[in-house]
Amino acid sequence: MQQPNALPAQADIVIVGAGIQGCASAYYMAKAGMKVVLIDKSRIAGQQSSRAWGFVRVQMRDPDEIPLMEEGKKIWRGLEAELNADLEWNEGGALYASGSPAIMAYREKWLQSVAAFGLDTRLLSIGEVKALLPDLATPVVGGLYTKSDGHAEPRKVAAAYALRARELGATILEGCGALALEKTAGRISGVATEWGDVRAKTVLVCAGASSWRLLTPYGALLPQSFVRASVARTNILPPVTEAAFVGDGIAFRRRGDGSLNIASSMHGDVDVTLDHLRLSRWYWNAYRESAKGLTLHIGAPLLKDLCQRMPWREEARRPAIHEREPMIEPQQERLQDAVRLLERTFPNIGRVGLAEQWGGNIDTLPDGIPVLDAPSAHPGLLVATGFCGHGFALGPVVGKIMHALSQGAETGFDLRPFRLSRFAEGDVKKPLSIW
Ligand SMILES: Cc1cc2nc3c(=O)[nH]c(=O)nc-3n(C[C@H](O)[C@H](O)[C@H](O)COP(=O)(O)OP(=O)(O)OC[C@H]3O[C@@H](n4cnc5c(N)ncnc54)[C@H](O)[C@@H]3O)c2cc1C
Repeated sequence: MQQPNALPAQADIVIVGAGIQGCASAYYMAKAGMKVVLIDKSRIAGQQSSRAWGFVRVQMRDPDEIPLMEEGKKIWRGLEAELNADLEWNEGGALYASGSPAIMAYREKWLQSVAAFGLDTRLLSIGEVKALLPDLATPVVGGLYTKSDGHAEPRKVAAAYALRARELGATILEGCGALALEKTAGRISGVATEWGDVRAKTVLVCAGASSWRLLTPYGALLPQSFVRASVARTNILPPVTEAAFVGDGIAFRRRGDGSLNIASSMHGDVDVTLDHLRLSRWYWNAYRESAKGLTLHIGAPLLKDLCQRMPWREEARRPAIHEREPMIEPQQERLQDAVRLLERTFPNIGRVGLAEQWGGNIDTLPDGIPVLDAPSAHPGLLVATGFCGHGFALGPVVGKIMHALSQGAETGFDLRPFRLSRFAEGDVKKPLSIW
């Protein structure tokens, strides 16, 4: 068990949040010789980064993210060798079956919008879908397929980055929450933590759905929210595809042991808190457009939120830390639906049982793309947050980008769409998807 005296007084960089963004950044920075301190209020990859489906895809991604993801896929291909770890990397493609002309048209429109990138994504005819999925029993009108996409096991990737970063000298502290960013003479000068202060020229905030809690008191506007998603691991099943699959209302990927990570591809849950209400103007249109796919839960979550705001509660006394390890329950009916749909879509698969189930809070931003920035209004600050349900795949390339930004070096990407100031400027585009 780490003790508070493990906290160094000084570092080149303090990284707040040990999800995949924090762990990948720590690795690339430590590898380059930086003195890195990475802190997490709970544990390595305790939140989204171990709860994700595990898709690594360029398919159906926001056009602004495509150059990052294409570069990211090059890193993924060599990552098991680089980290000397089994990550269950499987370059089995991404295959989305379209059950209606409207879905097909939506995906075709996306493909046209990214034509300039020269991706290997292509539309599939009915016959081509059936050739790739011989066991598919439900009718389709076509599909979308990217052969070079893939998937990996979220429980292994951030952990492997953290292990290697530690070997390279990074200090990684679990159970050490950041209380506030510190500023001296107009620039960032470190982080106040539960275990004391660390001085650093640069601080990277990648605290997942809690990033806004650190940035707001620092004067930055980040309208960050969250949507709850439910996932399950099945029993070991006969293989139907190696691709990351979406279709007929379900999404799944085949894990290394032959079980599936399975979820509803259509439904999420919003546990409405006062912060959701405060941010409603930012999300109104996105929620309205995905109304069929989102269920609002108003009573119990709001009551819990109100209780947490009472001045004597830990969450109110340490707002940047808030809930250290939120209990995120999976929504049973989503998973039962997913099982029923899987058995219907692939009847040859046999009886599907659930070996494990979990929930995860996906952090969202109103335009569906993250913040990746070294904002000039806040010297010394780096931000990587708001990945809207697709940041597992981006983790490796984001780690490299954050290392470049920490050095004031060129990243090789146009990061303007990802700047923090876009919210204060009101320059917020319509999202492709916010979760
Ligand atoms: C159910 C689900 C399915 C998903 N599926 C996919 C997928 O298939 N493909 C994909 O690419 N992405 C997917 N995602 C999204 C992906 O998991 C996230 O975008 C990514 O993991 C975000 O990583 P992160 O490091 O930004 O945040 P997180 O993993 O959430 O980590 C943030 C960390 O910050 C810590 N923290 C917060 N506040 C503080 C504080 N004050 N002090 C110290 N530490 C703090 C937290 O404890 C946490 O460990 C999915 C997400 C979910 C929930």
